[in-house]
Amino acid sequence: MTKHVFVTGGVVSSLGKGLTTACLAMLLESRGLRVRIQKFDPYINVDAGTMNPFQHGEVYVTADGGETDLDLGHYERFSNCPLSRASNITTGRIYQNVITKERRGAYLGGCVQVVPHITNEVKAHVRQHDGPDVDLVLSELGGTAGDIESAAYLEAFRQFVYEHGRENCVFVHLTLLPYLRASGELKTKPTQQSVGILRQIGIQPDMLICRTEKSMTQEMRDKIALFCNVEKKYVFEEKDVEHSIYELPLLLHEQGVDDALLHRLGLPTRPANLDEWQKLVHRVVNPSGSVDIAVVGKYIELKDAYKSVYESIAHAGIANNVEVNVQRVASEELTDDNVGSKLRGVTGILVPGGFGERGIEGKISAVRFARENRVPYYGLCLGMQIATIEFARHVCGLKGAHSSEFSKDTPHPVITLLKDQINVKDMGGTMRLGSQPCRLLEGTIARRAYGTELVQERHRHRYEFNNSYREQLQARGLVISGINPDLDLVEIVELKDHPFFVGVQFHPEFQSKPTKPHPLFREFVAAAVKRKNGL
Ligand code: GLN
Repeated sequence: MTKHVFVTGGVVSSLGKGLTTACLAMLLESRGLRVRIQKFDPYINVDAGTMNPFQHGEVYVTADGGETDLDLGHYERFSNCPLSRASNITTGRIYQNVITKERRGAYLGGCVQVVPHITNEVKAHVRQHDGPDVDLVLSELGGTAGDIESAAYLEAFRQFVYEHGRENCVFVHLTLLPYLRASGELKTKPTQQSVGILRQIGIQPDMLICRTEKSMTQEMRDKIALFCNVEKKYVFEEKDVEHSIYELPLLLHEQGVDDALLHRLGLPTRPANLDEWQKLVHRVVNPSGSVDIAVVGKYIELKDAYKSVYESIAHAGIANNVEVNVQRVASEELTDDNVGSKLRGVTGILVPGGFGERGIEGKISAVRFARENRVPYYGLCLGMQIATIEFARHVCGLKGAHSSEFSKDTPHPVITLLKDQINVKDMGGTMRLGSQPCRLLEGTIARRAYGTELVQERHRHRYEFNNSYREQLQARGLVISGINPDLDLVEIVELKDHPFFVGVQFHPEFQSKPTKPHPLFREFVAAAVKRKNGL
């Protein structure tokens, strides 16, 4: 029988529930278990695709083109669990399904209600992976215990455990122990209260993972166990990591979190194989140098807005044995006049994906600076489009060249709307999305980095390199090194006489793992290392 682990959070949001869930999955996989992870999000958006990264962080894209919550990125980076759009279930999706059924008359005239119709729909999703080839499913619930919008999910989880058998399910509750600097102590009351909220609705957490800045004492652990009605051996701490989030699985493992889960679920406790991970952490903690990479973007205040980009850069740092200092630069503040001083000393420049006009000219200045000063440049999606615009304007002399996303009447629309986007009215789930093939041209940076001819990369965009400018730009030295073989779309552009200048129309950041850094990120950081060493 497939076992179930439910991960909830309390006290505050942003506790790192997604990260913790990902670590649990990774640890359980290291024991040879076949694991699946899914995330339930209480918001009413049908998917994360229409959400502003400034409010909600990056939109993570799965191979099948699902536009999902960024926690799925953690899941893919830590574990090998297969993920798809079905791995992220929102209230919007749940209600959409129920309402569609109601319109079809599927409820036979019944009054359709939160309990049981919505809760049944949630339960159906909880068990979507159940079967002989899955040992364990982790279901994470977004938000915090006590949120009005989480109520139906918690009720559904409670019912699920009742029906599926308590011995087959575990409730893990992640909570915060705030540290009061003035009195120099960690406080347990918020944890007690948040567990209290769960108990009021009939959920008794089996395991507590307490986020904390300082180690808790045995006395505190005993107190939490007693007041929260959780066995002492199931109260764990998750202290802030010192160097990198990739230390977290090992910290949890050392305390026996994975053993406890297996034990509680009656699963065999095979030894964990963490060799690869231990080596990785060793490399993270002992870099042999450092590089400075500028990420020039629109949402630089919020780290979560380019989460996968920052993580992929870190993976590439691990691969090159260097620490990467990322400087987050606001594109809006860059101009041709100040770019030299603002980007002075950086050994690599990256422009990530984006939408809308704000900060576009600043990004063009950054690309120009990188091209003219031979600073390694890496453009992702919008970053590739910007590189194309910059090249068209300043190398090919196409005055006013632009993307028709930003200038409807540009004389040179070197980036234009994809043909099948022209009549699109609905904004949700209608971009060019998900994994598509890309053929790489022999003798290019891309081909050398990947070491293979055909790759699959994930997309999320509406605009594209305008093929009517292909010859003109190529004639002036732009190398088109990656093409979608089915649609004849330009996927990668690069420059020859430059240490590293690559723009990709896709999002390589969604396929990089700490244990398997993405080849283009790896080569970008390698070029930054060379520049730093003056090679
Ligand atoms: N705004 C651009 C487009 O829609 C780029 C999208 C992106 O960077 N994800 O094509």
